[in-house]
Amino acid sequence: MATTNNPIPLPAAFLETTASRLPGLAESLDSESPVSIRLNPFKPGRSMPEGRPVPWAEPGEALYLDSRPLFTADPVFHGGAYYVQEAGSMFIGWLLRRLLPELDTPAPRLLDLCAAPGGKTTHLASIAGPESVVVANEVIRTRAKILAENVQKWGTGNVAVTSDDPAAFGQRLPDYFDLILVDAPCSGEGMFRKDHTARAEWSPDNVQLCAARQRRIVSDVWEALRPGGILIYSTCTFNDAEDEANAQWIADELGGEFLTFDDLPSGIVTGPDGTAPVGWHFYPHRVASEGFYAAVIRKHDAQHRSGGKVKAAKSLVPVSRADLGALTRWLAPESALSRFATGRDGMTYGFSEALHDTVSTLLNGHFTLLYSGVQLGTLIRGELKPEHALALYYAVSRKAIPAADLPEAAALEYLRKGTSTELLPVSTFAPGLNLVTCRDIALGWAKRIGNRYNNLYPAPWRILHY
Ligand code: SAM
Repeated sequence: MATTNNPIPLPAAFLETTASRLPGLAESLDSESPVSIRLNPFKPGRSMPEGRPVPWAEPGEALYLDSRPLFTADPVFHGGAYYVQEAGSMFIGWLLRRLLPELDTPAPRLLDLCAAPGGKTTHLASIAGPESVVVANEVIRTRAKILAENVQKWGTGNVAVTSDDPAAFGQRLPDYFDLILVDAPCSGEGMFRKDHTARAEWSPDNVQLCAARQRRIVSDVWEALRPGGILIYSTCTFNDAEDEANAQWIADELGGEFLTFDDLPSGIVTGPDGTAPVGWHFYPHRVASEGFYAAVIRKHDAQHRSGGKVKAAKSLVPVSRADLGALTRWLAPESALSRFATGRDGMTYGFSEALHDTVSTLLNGHFTLLYSGVQLGTLIRGELKPEHALALYYAVSRKAIPAADLPEAAALEYLRKGTSTELLPVSTFAPGLNLVTCRDIALGWAKRIGNRYNNLYPAPWRILHY
């Protein structure tokens, strides 16, 4: 990324087209970027960062910070206490709150088709709630792994992470989802302030390529949206080809109608010139955010999806009645997990009823499932050896095992897997397994055996620099 000391100028063709019809936009792209975070409503910790509220978020949901701290050096960031996210992107939450009642089901099925690294997935998962199902897909495998990690840290337990081509959903899951979010890969004009490589990579030809790819992605997945279901189409770019023109194309060619709202937060612009209801723009010269665009389209024909019993996947072996108690003792009463099964990897997972059905459907349909529900651990002779993801699940029981609440420096040493006996003396931990926490946010496990302990934080996740 180029720094502001060595800025890459805004592309001339961008200045002549999009920027020339939006006075003030170009200047705003050379100003300071706002910093914003979204708090995890399922993980209320102590001493959380403070800041000013994001206008289109619920009270206490999201904050602007006065400066950009080193997030890696805040232990609770690693426990999924908050997510660092552009304020404009949080508008997806504003939309979802208004759209959930329209979906008319207690356990809606949502697909986040272009999901990595997981900003919008974690937001959808929080708002739709533990009984809902969020399938988070990312076609690029390396990025899908980061998505799976962020999903585990967020710890809502209602997400299945896949890594498949959008066409797989359209072909193999017709009429399946109540709502699909396509947060499409785009030319990134909305990132011109924060990321100067976006300026360097931009060209009129690339805008056209992106627009065509976006239409292909939405067409490929369209069949997976049930009749009457809702598509949220979003980009982080300003131009008409990728925004209004594409949204209009989706409505006209694939068959849908735009949904509008009359209580829009101020500063958000409707349509390209403030008139046509073809989506909403977040322009950095009008609101404190990088650029963002979203439109909502309801698929024609409001007949409801067919129910039907789902055949459990052969690769998910239900946990025996005798072993259930060994699992449920780790879960707090508010947990939504009610189905427990062991996969081919020998790992036992917990799911809500609805997520169990979806995971079976995904496995039966040969999707590439990277993570789902809550990875609880391995059952050995009627006892659970807990997995890291269970520590990060919001409803892990705090009664099952003692918690070692560490001060900041000790927590960072734990997250580093460091060996300082000064920061982390053996006496920190109770004998046996400990849930390691900082400011009440769970970070992972540690096991004390006599005069030594094992730091069970996953080696690939350890923090390297702070
Ligand atoms: N929704 C994400 C979030 O909030 O964190 C950001 C998604 S980003 C705008 C677009 C994503 O689409 C990227 O992760 C990218 O890897 C993925 N992508 C790239 N090409 C794609 C394609 N042909 N089909 C589907 N997704 C694609």
